[in-house]
Amino acid sequence: MVIKIYKDIYKEIELFNIKGVSSATYSKLKKLNIETLYDLIYYFPRAYDDRTNIKKIGELRGDEYVVLKGNIMNISAPPTRTGMKMIKATVNDGTGVLEVVWFQRPYLRNSLKIGEEYIFIGNVKRGYTFQMVNPEFKLYKGQENTGEILPIYSAIKDLNQNSLRRVLKEALKNYLDIFQENIPDEIIKKYKLMNRKNALKEIHYPTNPRNLEEAKRRFAIEELLILEMGILQKRFEIDLTNAGLYEIEGNKKLVSKFLESLPFSLTTAQKKVITEIYKGINAGKIINYLIQGDVGSGKTIVVVLLLLYMVENGYQGVLMAPTEILATQHYLSIYETLELLGVKVELLTGSVKGKKKIELLGRIKTGETNIVVGTHAIIEDSVEFQKLGLIVIDEQHRFGVLQRKRLRDKGVLANLIVMSATPIPRSLALSIYGDLDVAVIDELPPGRKPIKTKWISEEEDEEKMYHFIDKKLKEGRQAYFVASLIDESEKLSAKSTEELYNEVLKNLPGYRVGILHGRMKNKEKDEVMHLFKNNKLDILVSTLVIEVGVNVPNSSIMVITNSERFGLATLHQLRGRVGRGEHQSYCFLLSNTENDNSAARLKVLESTEDGFKIAEEDLRLRKAGEIFGVKQSGLSDLKFIDIVHDVKTIKLVKDICMEYLKENKGKINNQVLQWDIDEKFNKSLTS
Ligand code: ADP
Ligand code: MG
Repeated sequence: MVIKIYKDIYKEIELFNIKGVSSATYSKLKKLNIETLYDLIYYFPRAYDDRTNIKKIGELRGDEYVVLKGNIMNISAPPTRTGMKMIKATVNDGTGVLEVVWFQRPYLRNSLKIGEEYIFIGNVKRGYTFQMVNPEFKLYKGQENTGEILPIYSAIKDLNQNSLRRVLKEALKNYLDIFQENIPDEIIKKYKLMNRKNALKEIHYPTNPRNLEEAKRRFAIEELLILEMGILQKRFEIDLTNAGLYEIEGNKKLVSKFLESLPFSLTTAQKKVITEIYKGINAGKIINYLIQGDVGSGKTIVVVLLLLYMVENGYQGVLMAPTEILATQHYLSIYETLELLGVKVELLTGSVKGKKKIELLGRIKTGETNIVVGTHAIIEDSVEFQKLGLIVIDEQHRFGVLQRKRLRDKGVLANLIVMSATPIPRSLALSIYGDLDVAVIDELPPGRKPIKTKWISEEEDEEKMYHFIDKKLKEGRQAYFVASLIDESEKLSAKSTEELYNEVLKNLPGYRVGILHGRMKNKEKDEVMHLFKNNKLDILVSTLVIEVGVNVPNSSIMVITNSERFGLATLHQLRGRVGRGEHQSYCFLLSNTENDNSAARLKVLESTEDGFKIAEEDLRLRKAGEIFGVKQSGLSDLKFIDIVHDVKTIKLVKDICMEYLKENKGKINNQVLQWDIDEKFNKSLTS
């Protein structure tokens, strides 16, 4: 194939006819998710066989990927419980002893030579001794290849290390030139980055460890740059095209009336956030805000006020929640008060169908409906508005950057506010949510009683707990019981909702117990929630369905079974379902875990209720992942960046992008970068 343009790197790898690569090999590459030339060239080594840097057994710390060299002292084939064939070798390098184990390779018993020196490459684990399982290995033949650092790719059985090295070497030789620079020159210069071609060479075949580090740094910045530029570019476009387009008269009559009708006054933190956002709206700019606030900090009132403000100034508003239960609850909690003020609020969820739906859509289109409350379906079904001014999305972590971008790409030029009850340190939030401004409600309404939290690990304590709950239920309180079984296949290790339901019936006889789980129809779920809310049920046994937003102030007891299975943020959210009323609330975390990390999580919950502190602990205890709903932010797919530990780099790249876009008025002058953004960022939106 004749390569003409850069974009060809995203074409199927077969088209390139790499020398010595058969069609069978191409299909094997697919097993490693290598589909395009880009995928291949960016299939970076997961480690290096650095002969200049062979580790000593005496220096091992455990759980690391290393190259070791040592003498085989003895070889055995001990029987295993499962009948798997195992070969075990003891290796000594003069500084310590290592156990090396291979499974299902019985022939090694005769081919490995006692007394000879071998190189072993693989993961070391620390058990009774240091151990390597199924490492790559070869006889050490003195000084061969000294100084050369060889790549070690993630290989598979069908496609071994040597074949992968051959394919990559050939591809690099022939196609490296297409990989033109995708970082703007001024950024390369200013931050002294290695250029792309050199970095590609160095990452596969490092000439020395320092260059390798430079190459890694470059790719870390490159991958973040594509993501953040993509996010921020859209933001700039909106800011530029919409500055001043938007006009607001600044009426506040309804807002004042609404405030007067509240049985409480706003907290300072709530006021601060509202004022800040008013300012943005009044400036006639499209605003994009993330409102962070701990569970119970009163985010709903804040956004209802802002919605009302838009309405009395001639716009419509939308309040979206991730589930029907939550949407319905929001609707029920606001429509009466707002209707009294002459504001028409309507509920639009998947359950609204047929003629009713057509009529409702009509009222939204003519502007008769002022505020639409519903699930994400509102945006996904192209509902037409007369004049949409503000979209509020509750529980941000299910609505990531990609969805936000899709929303904007649809030409929805409305103000956007997302609310998150999973607080994270502000600095991290600012960088992760590159496209959003962050406002924090950092104060709870006064008079909240702390929730008493106890980790229960012994059966006798569980009995005491049931007695205690019995007493509280007799006093008129209600209780949640949460089961952790997420799918059937986990049955062995966790309780299903049904099992828990039966257990609750047995331990707390005579009470009205309801059950709520994911396989129920929405209507059934609503009915159960409704009963519980109106105190027609004493106990609600549920899955995680109730994690977000549910508000039943009389319910003061939360029991979470197998609580070691949940992350800190989830547990904090669940606990936040109680402590919403005047009664002292209690949270029981049931778990007989012996895992240190799980135990640490449970202890954090026992010791604090501060969501920000909990988030920080979560950061410390976990590596990355779903804690903040980072999953949908695009940041969890990054190869080089660990969003927990590389906050500095994330922030740096965000600043780089801001500065660049400002200087270039939102335009990206490096065409190659723009193509990468379109390919890697914009495309993932449509899939
Ligand atoms: P969250 O931030 O978790 O979404 P909500 O908005 O559901 O919290 O508010 C929790 C409860 O606190 C609601 O019952 C709400 O009416 C009440 N609330 C909100 N703001 C205040 C305030 N300033 N003073 C007292 N209660 C408040
Ligand atoms: Mg809420």
